[in-house]
Amino acid sequence: MRSITTFHLQYAHRFFGFKGEAQYLHGHTGTMTIEVEDSINEGVNMVFPCNEIRKIAWSVLKNFDHALILRRDDPLLPAILDVYERQGIKNGTPQNTMVGCAFKTELAEAHPHSRLVITEETMTVEGMIKITHELLKDKLNIVKITFTSGDNVASEEFAINGTVDRCPMCGVALDDKGFCHKCGYRQKAE
Ligand SMILES: [Zn+2]
Ligand SMILES: [Zn+2]
Repeated sequence: MRSITTFHLQYAHRFFGFKGEAQYLHGHTGTMTIEVEDSINEGVNMVFPCNEIRKIAWSVLKNFDHALILRRDDPLLPAILDVYERQGIKNGTPQNTMVGCAFKTELAEAHPHSRLVITEETMTVEGMIKITHELLKDKLNIVKITFTSGDNVASEEFAINGTVDRCPMCGVALDDKGFCHKCGYRQKAE
């Protein structure tokens, strides 16, 4: 069965080099849906707690919310960084509190303190799905990601292998020693 979590991201971007209105800087509210598949965990009668999926996903996806997403070769990138630098906000401000975990993958690099994500490819809805899967595939049994932004929607399904051992008391994933970091449950040796 699947546990499905949805959340919203508000961001600005543009399609650099694209021949259409999207080559101009503009913004969206995007809706991300992440589907996690596994067996029903008997103890708690769920696949995976949705608030836990949200917490894991949001720790990195927070970087895309109220953020600017630009391709690495976009000349707007050094221009924006220059303005942020001169304004003294490039390395953060006390008011920038929604700071996610910095990350760098083959597809994207987050600069949480300047609320900027640099991408290697144009950040279309398809691109966002690739970036999200890359960031979360080792943390969650993701079988499907759907991303909607304006009139654009893309969706991709992914193969998973095996099941994740989860705590029978609270449903979160156990570590490799069978310990639950949330409630302290310890799996008995077989
Ligand atoms: Zn757009
Ligand atoms: Zn637990």
